[in-house]
Formats: sequence, structure tokens, C-alpha cells
Amino acid sequence: MAVKESEVKKKRGGDKTIEPGHKYSLHANVIKQFDKAADLINFDPDIRRILKETKNEIVVHFPVKMDDGRIEMFTGYRVQHDDVLGPFKGGLRYHPAVNIDEVRALATWMTWKSAIVDIPFGGAKGGIQLDPHRYTINEIERITRRFTFSLGNNIGPEYDIPAPDVNTNAQIMAWVMDTYLSMMAPNERQRCTHVVTGKPIEAGGSLGRDKATGQGVVYTIEEWAKDHEVDLGETTFMVQGFGNVGSWAARLLGQLGSKLVAAEDITGAIGNAKGIDPQDLVSYVAGRGGVGGYQNAKPIDHKTFLSTKADIFIPAAMESQITAETAPWLNVRLVAEGANGPTDPEGDRIMCERKIDLIPDILCNAGGVVVSYFEWLQNKRSEFWELEEVDSKLRKKMVAGYAKVRRTAEEYGIDWRTAAYIVGMVRLEKVFRERGIFP
Ligand code: NAD
Repeated sequence: MAVKESEVKKKRGGDKTIEPGHKYSLHANVIKQFDKAADLINFDPDIRRILKETKNEIVVHFPVKMDDGRIEMFTGYRVQHDDVLGPFKGGLRYHPAVNIDEVRALATWMTWKSAIVDIPFGGAKGGIQLDPHRYTINEIERITRRFTFSLGNNIGPEYDIPAPDVNTNAQIMAWVMDTYLSMMAPNERQRCTHVVTGKPIEAGGSLGRDKATGQGVVYTIEEWAKDHEVDLGETTFMVQGFGNVGSWAARLLGQLGSKLVAAEDITGAIGNAKGIDPQDLVSYVAGRGGVGGYQNAKPIDHKTFLSTKADIFIPAAMESQITAETAPWLNVRLVAEGANGPTDPEGDRIMCERKIDLIPDILCNAGGVVVSYFEWLQNKRSEFWELEEVDSKLRKKMVAGYAKVRRTAEEYGIDWRTAAYIVGMVRLEKVFRERGIFP
């Protein structure tokens, strides 16, 4: 039964490594962004101290039996940043670079996001440090179930509600839900399916949740286009990451007539100035696992990808992609952040100097948590909404969030990221003041 450390490391791809690009603390970046906004509005120093910390940090180490009978140990995280606006809410990520610093940052962003689009949730995030591509589907199921068991009552339908993120999906959410419900008394189970969102439709999911984040990205891009009198039918765009967020954003923006000219994911980058059919690329990726090798575009390297001339760039993969090194390469008018934290503070500074417009992550990709809220409400009320209802309610939330951020940016004469922080912070400050601090 004993497992050799070297074997485990080999299989997990070196479990303690942080991906290239993570040169510094992501959470330190979040605090930098927060401080910049807090200084501008003279944010209450006491509330500032509270919001700089995460409320709870749960780290679990748990064993799982592999298909060949060996036992592997895994490390899982759930960080709960704040719940003054409502239950903790945020995704679960399966990735070798998952670590406590990253999860802290992602949890904190969730708090701002829900505050900006005005939904009654707090911020949380979680994940397991592993490369899911190295495990069979049965192993992933057992890892997911044992992780859920280890988290126990640290999640719950009225307390902390996970959702999909990088390398997790509706099937994984169904396993989380099933495991959580199996740990409850039988007569409690039926009223707790809202312990996760992003479930398969048949298992209580919401229509429109799968595309929600990409749809939200596109709704905000439409608002930007109106503001700048841009006809999206005449524009080009590029997307980094062709998973849930990137592929949906590409399809939906493509449906508005915008032309996809380059795409990149973990398997490589491709470009075609004449245009790539997003739906055809989705079918190709479904069969091949990535955009690399796609026949109707030519392979390009990372620098050529980021230097592609286009109107819109949608980063929809990982953090810290737009940096001091890469921001000067960009050849676009607008960056619409589908991913969380794709731009670091230096990247921000350079984009501002170069007058590249930005729809920041905590606004741009909030569509996922908005429709998660709709799913949660439908479960609580035993309702099932039509897609049109979900989409129109999502649009309203995204348009309202966009308008608030634009107004704040104009009022203070500041960049859009700082403005988005201010919108979220003002709401939280008010609630903290009203509720006071116990005891
Ligand atoms: P996903 O697992 O479905 O897709 C991730 C994509 O990124 C894949 O195409 C992968 O190949 C690519 N990728 C990974 N590392 C890369 C790298 N170094 N360079 C280029 N491409 C790389 O994940 P997702 O759910 O689409 O999430 C993507 C981003 O959007 C993450 O930052 C996530 O936190 C954020 N986000 C997701 C949701 C959601 O609802 N899923 C909501 C809000 C924000």
C-alpha cells in the first residue's frame, strides 16, 4: 500500500510547483488594487482592515484510492473571504498551480464581484492542487467525493456554495452535491440541492448557466461598443483560453458578427486574419482537447498571438497573462477580462498608458455568479425558469453593473478596475456600518 513519493510526484507533475508566470503573490496584487481604490475614497480604516483579511481558510489533506489500488494524498482548499452580503460563493478549481495564495486572491475577488452586480452573496473560492488530465474519470469522481466529505459542513446551501471553475464542470458539481446530500439526514436532502450551482440541468441546474460567464462578457462588450459607437459586426477579436468562458464568449460574440482572428489554449495558439468559425473550433476542441493543430488556421507562437492585431482581446484562461513584459505587445482597443486576474498591476499601468480600454474581471466575468444566484433561487423556490428569462435578467444585472462602473470611472477620472473596486467597496462599507461589529 505504501506509495513512493517519487511516483506520486511524477504522476502529479510535481505537486508543489507554481506555474511559470506566478512570480509573486496574487493575493498581494489584490491588496494593491484594493488599497489604490480605498485611498481614493478614504475608505473606513476599520472596514479596510477587515476586508484585507480572509474570514476562514480551510485546508484539507485527504487520501484517495487510485484505479491501480495505490493511495494518493491530495491537498484541497476552501477560502471564505467575506459573507456580510450573503452566503459565501465561489468556484472550485482543479489545477497543479492551486495554492493558498491563489485561492485567497480568487475568494476576495468573488466578494467584489457579487457586490458590483448587486447579488446577495459573499466571496469564496476553493480547489485541489492536481493536474486532472493525469487521472481517470473514476479517479476524479473519487477525489471529488472525498474532498467534499473532507470539507463537511464548511460548505452548505445557505452557508457556502461552490460552482465550476478551471477544469471543473457540471458533472463534478453533481458529484459534490450527491456526496454532500448523502451526508445529510434523508428528510433534509431534497431541500438542499442548492449546495452547489452549475449543476447539470436534469440535476437541478439552470438553463443558461453553462454559457453565463461568456454571455456576461459579451453583454459588457456590447455596452462598451454602444459607448464608443463601435459596430461589433465590423470588429475582430482574439481569445485566450477556449474552455467554458472563452469558447462561449467566442461563439456569442461571433453571433454578433465579430470575427475571431486568433485563439490560444494550453495546447498552443492559432491565427487566421480571415476569421475562424468559433462553432467549428468548439467541435474540433471537443474531439482533440485543444485548439492546437486546428486545420483552418495557422499555428503561431505565444508572442505572435498576444501581438495579433484585433479590436478586442478576451483573456479567458489563467492569471497574470498581461504583465510588464506582455502588455506592450498588445495590439487591441479593448481587453475584456473573462478570466480572473489576467492582468497584474504593471500590466494595468502599461495598458492605461497605452490607452487600451479595460472591462475588468470583477465586472466582466460576473455573469457566472449572477446565473449561479438565479440557479440557487430556482432551487430554493422549486422553480424552473425559461432561458429567455435567465438571459434577460442576466443582461439587466450586467448592464447595471457596467453603468455603475462607468459612472464611477467618470466621476473620479480613474481607470475602470479601480472604479469597479469602488463600486463594490461602497456597497460593503454601507452594510458593515449598518450591521456594526459584534460584540
Ligand atoms: P476551463 O477549464 O473551462 O478552461 C480553461 C482554458 O484555459 C482551457 O482552454 C485551457 O487550455 C486554457 N489554459 C490554461 N492554462 C493556459 C495557459 N497558460 N495559456 C493559455 N491557455 C491556458 O475554465 P473556465 O471555467 O473557462 O475558466 C477560465 C477563467 O475564467 C478562469 O480564470 C476562471 O477563474 C474564470 N471564470 C470562470 C467562470 C466560470 O463560470 N467557469 C466564472 C468566472 C470566471
